[in-house]
Amino acid sequence: MALLDPVLLKSRLGLLAGRFDVDALDECDSTNSELMRRAESGAPSGTVIVADRQTAGRGRRGRSWLSAPESSLTFSLLWRFSGPLARLSGLSLAVGVGLASGLESLGAQGVWLKWPNDVLLRDGEGYAKLAGILIELSSDRRGTQAIIGIGLNLSPPTGDLPQPAAGLSQVLSAVPERYVVLAAILQELHRVLETFAVDGFFGLKTEWQQRHAWQGDSVQILGEDAAPLVGRCLGADDDGALLLETASGIERIFSGDVSVRPAGNTLGVHPA
Ligand code: ATP
Repeated sequence: MALLDPVLLKSRLGLLAGRFDVDALDECDSTNSELMRRAESGAPSGTVIVADRQTAGRGRRGRSWLSAPESSLTFSLLWRFSGPLARLSGLSLAVGVGLASGLESLGAQGVWLKWPNDVLLRDGEGYAKLAGILIELSSDRRGTQAIIGIGLNLSPPTGDLPQPAAGLSQVLSAVPERYVVLAAILQELHRVLETFAVDGFFGLKTEWQQRHAWQGDSVQILGEDAAPLVGRCLGADDDGALLLETASGIERIFSGDVSVRPAGNTLGVHPA
């Protein structure tokens, strides 16, 4: 039996129980891939797949996401929006706000966000990655569908990673049972997704900016094919673009195919 009990989760969700349809699996390739297949067969908005083990967990740009049954919470949520794909710019930032505030509702403090898709904890002078978000979008004449994948470390991962990683156990004296953690996150995701559907990222920008790890700091934007772009990070624009003050003016960074690092740090950009 899977580690998470959907019946306990439903009771914890209270009034929102009817908005989510949760299936807990022992194992799958990736919760995003499994949910995508179910979405193609007509699964409703609010479907959640949570898996103890992923055999092919994915990050951005073909990278892999490490997870282990005892120390991770990995799940994907299907959410459908009316309107075209272009209306969903900034969605990964909005999801970051929901994830961070869900963890804060459990008592976690010092949760920070990194553009465009990571949740961080403070780690000495820098930050360590607590959770990653992978959103896959598709649209047709009925609207746009988002597969929102989240990998959260309940305790720090033991694998060899190019960047520091953190776990929820570092900021909570006792990590609650995983159905409690997932319920807290789903409640906050519901809130931010409803706001996003009406106001777009603009409705969540202040909340994102308050948790932005490098607000006002000097950063570099690293792309795979271009020289690093260095500047002062001004935060996110109304549509979720990253604003960078450079010597030649303010640049708006849209592409998710770049990595933001504090100036002077190039770790983890091109994993071997
Ligand atoms: P960047 O820092 O370049 O923006 P990213 O944060 O967008 O990258 P993702 O593609 O979202 O990276 O996540 C995959 C990367 O996350 C992997 O390349 C690895 O470095 C790191 N990673 C994988 N599993 C974990 C984990 N359980 N905890 C923390 N980091 C992980």
